[in-house]
Amino acid sequence: METDVITIDGPTSSGKNSVGFLLAQKIGYQYLDSGSFYRIGCVLLIRNNIRLENLEKVIEVFKNLQIKVKQNGQPKFLVNGEDITEHLHDPEVTRIVSAVSAIRQVREAIKLIQYKLVNSENTVMTGRDIGSEIFPKAEYKFYLTAGAEIRAKRRFKQLVQKDQDLKYGDVLKAMKDRDQKDTTREISPLRIPEDAIVIDNSDLTVEQTVKEMLKHIYA
Ligand code: C5P
Repeated sequence: METDVITIDGPTSSGKNSVGFLLAQKIGYQYLDSGSFYRIGCVLLIRNNIRLENLEKVIEVFKNLQIKVKQNGQPKFLVNGEDITEHLHDPEVTRIVSAVSAIRQVREAIKLIQYKLVNSENTVMTGRDIGSEIFPKAEYKFYLTAGAEIRAKRRFKQLVQKDQDLKYGDVLKAMKDRDQKDTTREISPLRIPEDAIVIDNSDLTVEQTVKEMLKHIYA
């Protein structure tokens, strides 16, 4: 591969997206969040009323996934010409995405998309298995983390703007549930990649976290 990839993995709400986006801007790379690819497939499953039990159909949707990314500011995702970015964090999508992403054939389909998208441009990619499985040879692999309560508070702050009745306890529970699914699944579980640089950003802002990363990159 001619192009360069910097990987950032970590659990839900560890700040990967804001950090990945800012880091990419600072070094002139494109930014891709692989969680969005899994979410895009889930939006299509929901729209087409495909239930998870219907494994064949689920896999078919992911195999036929054609994703276009518009990189002008935060990436926008086009599927069949339609910008579906605003649906990626619909509660129903978040509810099913961990189960869907645990399916081997789904991961294989997404892997091909990931390879294709980084083929032509230097990339910062965030996710759960980017440094461990997808680009294990990347020169810089980061693993971001933060305490569970801190991550849940971050998520709550984002979500409560859309849903005033939301309870913090429910957010914490759903997050722990997703962490559990992502770390214990059989295929490509979330783990710290070998030789990754681990950054606990519980007490760091996005800017401070990126500064810390740049110290390693330009060391
Ligand atoms: O990062 P985000 O919360 O958008 O990811 C949604 C879900 O997609 C994660 O909970 C995980 O189950 C799955 N995912 C994954 N591998 C990745 C990125 C995301 O399994 N590389």
